[in-house]
Parts: sequence; structure tokens; C-alpha cells
Amino acid sequence: MTFSFLKSLPRFLLRSLFILLLSCRSGGVCADKNSPDVLIVGAGLSGLSSAYYLKKAGKKAVILEMSPHIGGRIRTANYADNAHAEVGLEEFWESNPALDLMRELKIPLETFYTSFSSFYYQGTLYPFTHKSNQDFLASVLSVDEMKAYKEWDQKMTGLYKQIDQHPLANNLLPLIDLSFADWIHETSGLSSKAQEFVRIQTEPEFATSWTKISALDGIAEWYLLSGEGQAPYHVVGGNQRAAQAIANFIGTDNIHLNKLVTHIKSTDTGVEVTTSDTGTFQQQVYRAKYVITTVPLFRLNDIQFSPPLSKDRKEAIQTQSGGSYFTAHVRVDNKASHFWKTKGISLLPIISDGLLGVIYEGKSEPHKDAILNLLVNGAYADRFNSRVSGGPEDVQEALTEAFEKQWPGFRSSVKQMTFYRYHPRAIASWPVGRSRFDSLSDSLRQPQGRIYFAGDFTEDTHSNGASHSAIRVVKAILNPK
Ligand SMILES: Cc1cc2nc3c(=O)[nH]c(=O)nc-3n(C[C@H](O)[C@H](O)[C@H](O)COP(=O)(O)OP(=O)(O)OC[C@H]3O[C@@H](n4cnc5c(N)ncnc54)[C@H](O)[C@@H]3O)c2cc1C
Repeated sequence: MTFSFLKSLPRFLLRSLFILLLSCRSGGVCADKNSPDVLIVGAGLSGLSSAYYLKKAGKKAVILEMSPHIGGRIRTANYADNAHAEVGLEEFWESNPALDLMRELKIPLETFYTSFSSFYYQGTLYPFTHKSNQDFLASVLSVDEMKAYKEWDQKMTGLYKQIDQHPLANNLLPLIDLSFADWIHETSGLSSKAQEFVRIQTEPEFATSWTKISALDGIAEWYLLSGEGQAPYHVVGGNQRAAQAIANFIGTDNIHLNKLVTHIKSTDTGVEVTTSDTGTFQQQVYRAKYVITTVPLFRLNDIQFSPPLSKDRKEAIQTQSGGSYFTAHVRVDNKASHFWKTKGISLLPIISDGLLGVIYEGKSEPHKDAILNLLVNGAYADRFNSRVSGGPEDVQEALTEAFEKQWPGFRSSVKQMTFYRYHPRAIASWPVGRSRFDSLSDSLRQPQGRIYFAGDFTEDTHSNGASHSAIRVVKAILNPK
């Protein structure tokens, strides 16, 4: 092969070619013409959304996913008699950009209840049979309690708007070192019943006790429930359908399943990502210009980075915590629906404020067994996840007993229970002393070389964070500084 054609190239181009060759030789990484522009680690909502936005921008992305399925924590269980219920993500809140993405793909959505839910408090059911959150509240609180509540709720909205500004205002900083519970007790002016109402409605969202999260993060979470609150959306036929539809748009050939990412190397010229096949343990090396990781933060510790993650990022990961969920699908005789219906209208979801967590309704065919979906949270979920409570028979008995106490006579209607565990860190949370708005969290949202960090844990507690983080990293890759 002769290199005479090189003589015809302009000098500046020759120089760039030479530098590129040298850097590839000296440990740099060079993607070839078949390499994708971007490698994405994880095929959950963050990874799928990132690939979706990149494809729309004309960039080629390949997703590397360690499990045999797409969707990550979006999972729907389908039963032999066509019933289905969510195993993971239950509802998308109205402000979630994922809803726009789904509308673009014409994924059918439905919404049929509001942000506040019926709840049990000290053994009494407070049914949500009202037209609005405010009417519901007025049925729970006295006129004076309601007046104080409205003032407090308005104050919360003002504080939330301030949090949205960057950098964080000085008056908000102390709210990182106070728990949401203490701050409400000390400053809200709410009656003790109204305080309990706030606790009961928010704790299933935090998936941990309100004593364990900072006041600042509590304010951010309250935004979903404030005023008339946000509408919760579901995908018709189950949320897993959304994951599949996004995957089809991306092209399933661009999603490589069973690829556990073990190493990520970033150089001035590109990235190199090493995977191990979870079935054959065959190692494979992928190259691209950029990599986006969308794995939950606690999983980042399993990946070896070169150069290593910065000190700030490591500290952010180490000091973050998580909330716990445990899901139980309970098949019951459909004649039992009078337990959760009044005048034919479903009161679900019902917050049990106890072992049963939040009781949602799954979908089943008329006249067949009904399906209830329990989203057990916090300490109760920890108990079931850690298996200290014994085997599945013990979990079933504990849940049946809790049902029987709440709905006497229900026991005989229970036909089967199916349990789904998720890693104790089902969703992100920041303990008192940390916050998603502090400088350590900011450091994680910055790229390190050509590595971009997305995923709900980088941003928010739930899937809103997954979607927002995908938008953030794709914007940054398309408009490098
Ligand atoms: C039981 C439950 C109920 C929930 N309910 C709601 C709800 O009602 N509303 C809501 O908004 N949110 C809810 N959430 C949270 C929501 O599911 C998540 O915020 C969202 O799905 C996170 O998406 P993600 O892409 O960031 O992460 P994930 O979905 O966790 O995706 C990350 C992916 O990375 C893969 N991965 C990890 N490590 C590696 C590796 N080394 N190599 C390759 N792949 C890797 C994982 O297998 C996974 O598929 C719930 C979560 C749970 C568990």
C-alpha cells in the first residue's frame, strides 16, 4: 500500500491524523467507522430515553444491559388468566417528560385517580370519594386545621420554586441538616392530625420514614402532591409496554442484553467499555465517542473506571441512601371487591399506613379473580426483603393477618400471593445531611471526561429523575462545551 495520497492532504489535516494515530497507540481509544457515537449502560427508562433522544438527533447509540430484559425497574407481571399488575414502576407523574416521549410514540395512557389517596389512620378509613384533593382534605380536617394547611401548602410551593433556582439560596441550606419530620413538627403550624396526613401521604413516596430524609428533599417531593397535585398516569396494558415501544423505536438490534459492564475507560479521543456475557462469561470490548451510564449509583461501585471516579463522585455515591419497596400480587375472589369498593366505586389506591403498604388494583378480566398489588414500603419492605421474617408462607400469613385486621372476613377470599423483591435500594433517597440539591450531587451530574452519568439516582427519587437525567446528558453530548 502506498501512502502517496497523503501528500495531497492539507498540512493541518495531516497533523490531526498524526496526533490521533499517536494517541490511539499510546493507550488512547479510537472508535472506528462502525462504532456507535454513544454507548449506554442500562436499558431502564434512563437508558432507553437517552437512546431515543440520540436517535432523534441522528446519533447512533448502542445499549449494553446486564439482564435478559429491557425496562429495568419498569416491569409488568402477566398471569395465565390475562390479569396483569406492575412489579416495579406503578405510575408516571404528570410532570414526567417520559409522558411526552410516550405520546410521541402513540403509547396509550390512562389516568383514573388523583395524587392524594384514600388512607387508614388509627384504624379508620378516610375514603377518597371526592372530586378534588381540596374536597377530600376538607372531609379529613376541621375548618381551622384546613386554613392552617392551605397557608402551609402555599409556603411549600414558594420554597419549591426557590429550590429550582441554581445555586441553592442560603436560607435553604440549613434544611439539608434537618429531617422532614422535625422541620414539619417545629415550623409548619399544622395540627397533629394534618401533620400525620402529610406523613401518611408522603412516606410511600419516600419508601422510608420521613425522619430519614432531609427537609429540603421533603419539600421537593411534596411538589407532586401540593394543591390539586399531579395526575398519575399508567400505560394501558401495563407499563412494560412503554419500555418495549421505546426499544422498538431505537431498534432492538441496538440493545445488547446479558452484557454486564465491568470496565469503562475514557481517553481524550474516545471510550472503551468492556462487558462480560452473563451466560457465557465471554468478554467483549466496545468503543465509541462517549458513554452514558444509567445504572443506579450503588451499582457504579461494581464498575472499574479508568481513570478512577473523582473523590467527590465517590463520596456522593457512598453517602447516598435508598428507600425500600417489596411488591406482593394478591389474587382474590372477585366477590371480595366490596372490601375496597363503595357504591360500586373503587377506593383504591388505599394507603394502609402499615404492613400492607399502598394497595393498588391490578387489571383482570371481568368475573375472574381480582388482583391487588401491594407496594409495601420502608421498614416493612426491609423486613420482607431481608427475609428475616421467614419464608414465603410467613410473609403470606403476615399479609393475610394484616388484611384480616383491616377487612374482617377477607382471609377466605385470598387465593394466591406472588412476591417480588427488589434490591433494598429500590429508589434513591438522601439521608439527613445530604440532598439531591447539594454540591456532591452536582458533582455527579458533571461528566468525567467522556463519561456521562444519568439514571434516577443522579437526579430525583423516581422515574422523573430517570427522564430528566436522560435529557440532561443527551443535551450535553450534543452541545459539548
Ligand atoms: C417497586 C417499585 C415501584 C416504583 N414505583 C414508582 C412509581 O410509581 N413512580 C415512579 O415514578 N417511579 C417508581 N419507581 C422508581 C422507578 O421504577 C425508577 O425511578 C426508574 O424506573 C429508574 O429507571 P433507570 O433507568 O434510572 O434505572 P433502572 O430501571 O434501574 O435501569 C438501570 C438498568 O441498568 C442495568 N445495569 C445495572 N448495572 C449494570 C451493569 N454493570 N452493566 C449493564 N447493565 C447494568 C440494570 O439491569 C437496569 O436494567 C419504583 C421502583 C420500584 C422498584
